[in-house]
Amino acid sequence: MKRIGILTSGGDAPGMNACIRAAVRTATAANVEVLGIRRGYNGLIHNEMAALDRKCVANIIQRGGTVLETSRCPEFKTPEGRARAIEVLDEAGIVGLLLLGGDGTFRGGTLLADECDISIVGVPTTIDNDVYGTDYTIGFDTAINTALEAIDRIRDTALSHERLFFVEVMGHHTGFIALESGIAGGAEELIIPEMPLSSEELCAKLKEAFNRGKKSAIVVVAEAEQPGYSFQIAQEVKKNIDVESRVCILGHIQRGGSPTARDRVLASSLGAAAVKALLSGKNGYMVGEINNEIAYTALADTWEKKKGLSPRLEELVSLLSA
Ligand code: ADP
Repeated sequence: MKRIGILTSGGDAPGMNACIRAAVRTATAANVEVLGIRRGYNGLIHNEMAALDRKCVANIIQRGGTVLETSRCPEFKTPEGRARAIEVLDEAGIVGLLLLGGDGTFRGGTLLADECDISIVGVPTTIDNDVYGTDYTIGFDTAINTALEAIDRIRDTALSHERLFFVEVMGHHTGFIALESGIAGGAEELIIPEMPLSSEELCAKLKEAFNRGKKSAIVVVAEAEQPGYSFQIAQEVKKNIDVESRVCILGHIQRGGSPTARDRVLASSLGAAAVKALLSGKNGYMVGEINNEIAYTALADTWEKKKGLSPRLEELVSLLSA
């Protein structure tokens, strides 16, 4: 293998740069050239690429976002768009392609792998942690620590004003961020898709907590289909409980920022492993980490199969909530 390409696609995640750095350095150490493709599948279709050497990736390990930039690319969902991408890859002499992204990126990658002879390997980078085949995705640890810092700050004002706060975190249909930031932040209640709690049940639990003497509380809410779901919950609760409440939506703050040590180590480890996988002839796989070991999962399984929350953590929530 003489030349490989690398792109970052979908939602950006802290640690993408650390992963790019590790991939480039692992490839160049094996005398393999790397072309960095800008703006995900969009840049691929429009032939936006440049060579990356060891020096190009110096001093990026600590930076959030992605130096290659990212985008959403509806054109890639069409056979014509992917055919154009394959032409560009062939013209550039790329024989292996690294995809850094989430489940959407891997849906596209699965189709691409079926439609061309280029070897394709994915690395899971998304703050949502909703990719099957890895215990943690790159960016998740940073996102939960960012959410946790916000929850701790809100706790100060909730206590001072004796208020009920609804803190809405990201999660893309899943409760991974809410579950771990909620446990770490000592949330009184969690609203997450995997553990349904009706508004009556929530009100009953909060009422009981306030009757016991609590003067403030924090409910961590996973965004649902649309950000802003927590306003709806807050209104329903307001009808039943006589405590002043506020809503705080953390939004894209959770996406940015310097990656944590854990994310940098995971990103470096998976970036290097992904290049080694490509060079050893693997094609159509995602490289993840399960029980501290590198794990290879067929790209199609990463989005067809659903990763569940840890039952142990779910149990903890019932034990420790209000
Ligand atoms: P993420 O990879 O973070 O989940 P998206 O869901 O936005 O982000 O997906 C990133 C890109 O992957 C999309 O903009 C699109 O180009 C491509 N993609 C997503 N779903 C498909 C699909 N079903 N078929 C082909 N390409 C897809």
